[in-house]
Amino acid sequence: MRLFECGSLVPGCEWHTRADNDAEIVRRVVEHMRQAHGETMIREMMVRGAEPVRGTNAIAATA
Ligand SMILES: [Zn+2]
Repeated sequence: MRLFECGSLVPGCEWHTRADNDAEIVRRVVEHMRQAHGETMIREMMVRGAEPVRGTNAIAATA
């Protein structure tokens, strides 16, 4: 089970999600980014190299 907290990428955002695998996390994160923060934020995220899957700060593995 993995946990992603949007606040680690977007200060102030309290949205978070859990999923069994990285692919599902990424799918949900991109969807949230699109709806809540817009395409620009997705591009910024990629540019900064803060990929949801590999960013150790962005995703914490829980049990
Ligand atoms: Zn957010």
